[in-house]
Amino acid sequence: MQTQRFKDNNLYLGHFSNQVLVHCPKCRNKATVDTCCGVLSCDTCGYYAMKEDKEYYRLEIQLNCPQCGKRIEFAIDKVTEKKEKMRVSCPPCGFAHAYKPKYTEHSIVNYKEYIRDYKRPQRNEREDCVFNTDLWLKKPYKNHLFWANNYQHLDYLKRYIQATIRERHDYPRMSMIARLPPFIKSKKNREDLLKIIEGLEKK
Ligand SMILES: [Zn+2]
Ligand SMILES: [Zn+2]
Repeated sequence: MQTQRFKDNNLYLGHFSNQVLVHCPKCRNKATVDTCCGVLSCDTCGYYAMKEDKEYYRLEIQLNCPQCGKRIEFAIDKVTEKKEKMRVSCPPCGFAHAYKPKYTEHSIVNYKEYIRDYKRPQRNEREDCVFNTDLWLKKPYKNHLFWANNYQHLDYLKRYIQATIRERHDYPRMSMIARLPPFIKSKKNREDLLKIIEGLEKK
């Protein structure tokens, strides 16, 4: 085999996360998520979705049961929707009635907080929890999932996998390559993985 050298440029997954290819939630063709502005767009069907900031409230119920007089108190955090009435049944006597909840502690979570999921290397068997769809470049392999965010990411992985000599710097240790799962690092999977990559490149 020809000697091929790979040098870890100490790139992080974040370097390959600005644009993420996913299945369009509507037509299942290739769509792109622009993680900088939180937008998913599909060239095939024109589907467009945007992530907005999420608003949360704390819901509180505090009352005396109209039937037995027992105090009922509870709270639910991170409620995203304000409801006019909520049905509550009294634990001791079972009397059920719809009451008006109190909403407090309004908080806003910026979309960038939850879109950060695309940059987490440990999200191994992942499904997209941001737009409720799945990655375009992925293929199950043995009990694992081989995946890439986009073609640049796939190409970088390919160069690493096909290299017979893999050079790495000692620092930083947490580069994308350093954090790859063992099944990708294992040279005995090399041929299989290169076949998978070849298939994905044509996708
Ligand atoms: Zn589409
Ligand atoms: Zn009661």
